[in-house]
Amino acid sequence: MIFDGIIVGGGHAGVEAALAMARLNKNTILVTGNLSKVASLPCNPSIGGPAKGIVVREIDALGGQMAKSADKGQIQIKMLNASKGPAVRALRAQIDKLQYPRIMLDVMKNTENLTLKEALVEKMIIENEKVIGVELSNGELIYGKTVILTTGTYLNSNTLIGDEKKLSGPSGEPTTFGISKQLKELGFDVVRLKTGTPPRIAKDSVDYSKMVPQYGDIIHHTFSHDEIYYDENPQELCYLTHTSTVTHDLINLNLNKSAMYSGIVEGVGPRYCPSIEDKVVRFFDKDRHQVFIEPESVELDELYVQGLSTSLPRDIQEKMLRTVPGLENVKIIRYAYAIE
Ligand SMILES: Cc1cc2nc3c(=O)[nH]c(=O)nc-3n(C[C@H](O)[C@H](O)[C@H](O)COP(=O)(O)OP(=O)(O)OC[C@H]3O[C@@H](n4cnc5c(N)ncnc54)[C@H](O)[C@@H]3O)c2cc1C
Repeated sequence: MIFDGIIVGGGHAGVEAALAMARLNKNTILVTGNLSKVASLPCNPSIGGPAKGIVVREIDALGGQMAKSADKGQIQIKMLNASKGPAVRALRAQIDKLQYPRIMLDVMKNTENLTLKEALVEKMIIENEKVIGVELSNGELIYGKTVILTTGTYLNSNTLIGDEKKLSGPSGEPTTFGISKQLKELGFDVVRLKTGTPPRIAKDSVDYSKMVPQYGDIIHHTFSHDEIYYDENPQELCYLTHTSTVTHDLINLNLNKSAMYSGIVEGVGPRYCPSIEDKVVRFFDKDRHQVFIEPESVELDELYVQGLSTSLPRDIQEKMLRTVPGLENVKIIRYAYAIE
């Protein structure tokens, strides 16, 4: 059998590509490493915000799924910059990171013309300079008229904490090598980008009395132009606290131990997600930086520490967190890491 389209990778891009193609009555197959983690959110489970909020609405206007699923999976939604002019207002939602992949998987399972396959693609099959299919890691061959690569942050990736460098995809998921090697052999430029994620901490180890609560909006915002608001969605609280000069002194003292600064990172960083090391170095005149404590899922006892993305060693991460008001007795569930 020859599919109209083969989508490789079930992240946000792959899910939209697969749904768009299947909804156009094209016989489509999505091949992805882990079906229970489609459209997964490896960093902050938030959707929208300045710049990206508009993209989500554009995807919706084009018939895509992200806005609808975000409306269903959000656990706090608010309009950022509401006190400022309309040009800078931005809708942003905290998403339940366990629910969101389930919502997306459910939509895909109920879409006609779409086959889902849990497998890793080893390489593309090329005949007469044309891609005609893919070969899976178990040797199985799948043929298609079009192959779309949406492999995201998983190709030949390294995670880094302090001086530890490990071949791994995000959140300990396997990394894959075949496709990037093949692309290189075909003459494409293959470069590395780096980013990072902060530690996750236990909900019951935080002193919320030292932080400022951040409420969701009472207004029923939606990303989708369908404007379906799910009343049953809880509006969870987020909290605001700050770093201090004590935090910054500790970071400066240990900068050479950070993977980002010790020279073991090869990639260049995207602009949107600076580590706390970067912020302390670049904005050395600032006495403090914002730290938002945000829920990851109503089903999890862990919180995301927005603003403290880092690749410092584990012991320094512990010390750093404890300098932040409200986190003096914090328990780290998962340590921060950088990825390239
Ligand atoms: C630690 C970290 C921090 C980040 N921080 C931010 C942030 O603050 N803000 C932000 O906007 N973005 C952030 N990102 C990036 C964000 O996760 C990506 O931009 C987004 O997930 C990209 O979507 P995607 O669909 O392109 O790829 P991904 O979501 O990466 O999905 C790729 C999919 O392809 C699958 N796959 C890969 N190779 C194969 C193969 N050979 N065979 C089969 N399946 C394969 C994977 O299993 C995965 O499901 C971060 C990412 C990481 C890892």
